Amino acid sequence: MTEPLAQAPDTVVHTVLKADGLHKAYNGKPALKGVSLQVQAGEMLALLGPNGAGKSTLLQLLTGLFTPDQGSIEVLGQDMRQHPARALSGLGVVFQQSALDMDLSVMANLLFHTDLHGIPRKTARERIDTQLAAIGLQDQAKAVVRSLSGGTRRKVELVRALLHRPRVLLMDEATVGLDPASRQQLLDSVRGLCRDQGLAVLWATHLIEEVKTADRLLLLHQGTVRFDGHIDAFMAAAEGPDFQTEVLKALQKPGL
Ligand code: ADP
Repeated sequence: MTEPLAQAPDTVVHTVLKADGLHKAYNGKPALKGVSLQVQAGEMLALLGPNGAGKSTLLQLLTGLFTPDQGSIEVLGQDMRQHPARALSGLGVVFQQSALDMDLSVMANLLFHTDLHGIPRKTARERIDTQLAAIGLQDQAKAVVRSLSGGTRRKVELVRALLHRPRVLLMDEATVGLDPASRQQLLDSVRGLCRDQGLAVLWATHLIEEVKTADRLLLLHQGTVRFDGHIDAFMAAAEGPDFQTEVLKALQKPGL
């Protein structure tokens, strides 16, 4: 029997990822200057910012790789500083760099991951089958990763990130190197996971067109949040019809 990742978002609406007042400096030079965010179950939040905005630094703090100079992070109510293992168990991460073994099959790669997490083989196979089917890869379990397209490999990484049943998924520029069709497919897959499994997603990108798929936009520039709200609200506040132009203008303004 398979279990759902989380309850449907219309039955449970709560904050699963919360960051408050995050500061981080490198050698005295601030990279993040008081960044706060919240992501709800079933919600997709796009984190958009140009190079140097602080996106990678923010994700490094959220994944516990570095500790903030100030501020706090909670995953499912678990404080990252006080209970890092509990907080991290609620997170799945897809990094920019692939971590798949190219010469193993999809199934072997995924079982390696579930073994590392101590998930029993029977449960692991059920979860793998369910997640592969959920993103249309049910026929690829035996395929060797090297034989797959870049877009399909990213989907396998997405499946892998979900096998320990996290409630929050962090995608760090996950579409880098993909063609537009594969990028859209990956976005659609993640969107489906939010809708069907109540997964909360933080989607970091520097590509403005990817933001339109999300529920909410967090615009980061020079270490500060320039806009945090629904895409529709951003559009309503925008002066012209061209989304891309408006975002670029916003990045140059002191505030919105
Ligand atoms: P983004 O991911 O949005 O491109 P980063 O978080 O990588 O932004 O960078 C934010 C700022 O912090 C930049 O000014 C960058 O030069 C600086 N920075 C990032 N990582 C380091 C580091 N390891 N050492 C020193 N400065 C860094």
